[in-house]
Amino acid sequence: MIAVLKSGTTPAQRDHLVAWLRRMNLDVHISEGAEVTVLGLIGDTSRVDMELLGSLEIVQSVKRVSEPYKQVNRKFHPMDSVIDIGSAKIGGGHFAMIAGPCSVESEDQIIGVAMAVREAGAKILRGGAYKPRTSPYAFQGLGSQGLELLRAARKATGLPICTELMDLRHLDEFHDIDMIQIGARNMQNFDLLKEVGKTDKPILLKRGLSSTIQEWLMSAEYIMSEGNEKIILCERGIRTYETATRNTLDLSCVPILHELSHLPVVVDPSHATGKAKLVAPMAVAAAAAGADGIMIEVHNDPAHALCDGAQSLTPDKFADLASRVEIVREAIR
Ligand code: PEP
Ligand code: MN
Repeated sequence: MIAVLKSGTTPAQRDHLVAWLRRMNLDVHISEGAEVTVLGLIGDTSRVDMELLGSLEIVQSVKRVSEPYKQVNRKFHPMDSVIDIGSAKIGGGHFAMIAGPCSVESEDQIIGVAMAVREAGAKILRGGAYKPRTSPYAFQGLGSQGLELLRAARKATGLPICTELMDLRHLDEFHDIDMIQIGARNMQNFDLLKEVGKTDKPILLKRGLSSTIQEWLMSAEYIMSEGNEKIILCERGIRTYETATRNTLDLSCVPILHELSHLPVVVDPSHATGKAKLVAPMAVAAAAAGADGIMIEVHNDPAHALCDGAQSLTPDKFADLASRVEIVREAIR
């Protein structure tokens, strides 16, 4: 349920109302906008007398929120959320390119790629240390050593770092990681979602392999219900019957999510297409669709990459893509 307060409501009047609602065992989420203040009520709202609440002097309107996701719902928080990731910002008009290899492989590789993508305009460095691989015999990532190399690359370039957390037992090791990625395979690992929800780290929540938009938003709700509001959604393609691409990029989710939620939306055309030649056209399309950021896999030597070489761009190709994305962003501004 949401209650929209009249403009001109004083902080004291608002706090008085909030205290009354909290005495009814409700959690009250306050969203203070330039124009209006929205109180989002969470919990058993069946006992709230809507007529009474609506008749209060300072209340403009009261509505039930029928969607099962509440705190990530735009009705609860009409303004776009802006997430700070180190020196970068995503959402509410702030756009960032996130780039780097699928996996961290060596110091030379990660620092070399980090320098090159920063030069081309990337604002965040990505790289997997713990890798979710379909085969147990495939390269599983460098683990702790990979995290160390990411820290070295951050030191060398100043770029904030983003890497995937797969196992709760590793959470302590991620204490200084700038943004934690929850991968597609873990989108519905609810225990993991609850734990990252207790941290204050920005979370890049990838869409599950065959998850609906509502399921995805419910996963974001899991994180936010524990107190962490710093969530960025990342579309990375979904399973369909099409086999010409690794997955099918669902670009329509960008405007849909912007309508349903206040959270920023990033698009990853690398995992969505699985083919390097399709990455740039789909990145440009994502920018045109209004994405708040784009995540691209970049490798210094894609042919010899230990993971996802076929979809990785060279630094030169990434630089070209980044400038085309900029042109599109200018054009739609
Ligand atoms: C990745 O970003 O390297 C990755 C494994 O992505 P996803 O979870 O989308 O497959
Ligand atoms: Mn990958």
